[in-house]
Amino acid sequence: MTKSASNTGAQDLRLARLGVAVVGAGRIGIELIRNLGLMGLGRIDVYERDRHRADPLRNRYRVHSGDFWDELTLGRLRDYDFAICTVDDRAARVRMNQKCLVANVNLVHAWTENAIAAVAAYPFGALDDCACYECDQSRAARPMPLASLRLTVGGTETSADPASRIATASIAGALASALVARIASGAHGAVARKASLDTTSGDGTSVELPRDPKCPRCGALQRPVPIVLTRNRWAVSKCVRAASPGTLTQHVQLSDELDGLEGRSFSVGELVERYQGGPIPAKFALTIVEGRTVCLDFEDFRADPPRARSSRCPPS
Ligand SMILES: [Zn+2]
Repeated sequence: MTKSASNTGAQDLRLARLGVAVVGAGRIGIELIRNLGLMGLGRIDVYERDRHRADPLRNRYRVHSGDFWDELTLGRLRDYDFAICTVDDRAARVRMNQKCLVANVNLVHAWTENAIAAVAAYPFGALDDCACYECDQSRAARPMPLASLRLTVGGTETSADPASRIATASIAGALASALVARIASGAHGAVARKASLDTTSGDGTSVELPRDPKCPRCGALQRPVPIVLTRNRWAVSKCVRAASPGTLTQHVQLSDELDGLEGRSFSVGELVERYQGGPIPAKFALTIVEGRTVCLDFEDFRADPPRARSSRCPPS
């Protein structure tokens, strides 16, 4: 066997062992899924809440319909080598960033901006101080690339026409699949990177993304973050209050915003008072234990079979 044939064989084997979660099966997602399938990826699971898009994929892939924020739990996420977000929406990209950062799973984003197809890779699984998606967002806005300026000609807004938008989305999906293959082969190096291609001019860019120490998402985070499955019940018994009075002032940073409350950081005491033992509508929370960030994972917690337990304090 020649050396290049054995390299190709090793690469095929690596791809066949990969498991990926593809979030979104729209124009970008469908091209990505097709390419990953052709590459012979081992496991492609699809998260798509629109049944019209999800149903045709069911005979070939495991499809989770429903909102990815609910379906793709931290526990499920940790089972994949990559999560690839193709939902062309900034809020979705932020949410995937939030979860993949904590789950320590490589993240790839694919999106479009007019006629520009863009992809970005955040190898969280390979690099503990890897930049995150929000590092890029928290920096000062960069000047628009020349290519997107060209879309405005003679004062008339000529945003990409439907055919061009479809082509741009396909290219974004194809670029994302190429990026997954490159990272899997080790050719990419463990570094966060963003690449874009102007589909009208063919101009391309590729930049490394350094971590921003002031990033609101990852700046203060020590990774990898230990994950502790925790019951989502908010009550502190008298004995715990007595034995550990600091429990009520312990702060937690929630994954979700709470109706009617500003911010996401609360003391345990505030949550106990508001939720009176009931669950908080949040997927997970971050808290500091002995100087280290720990993730309390509520959505993957499974209660043991009920046992008879005394609710009284032990005799002192
Ligand atoms: Zn960051």
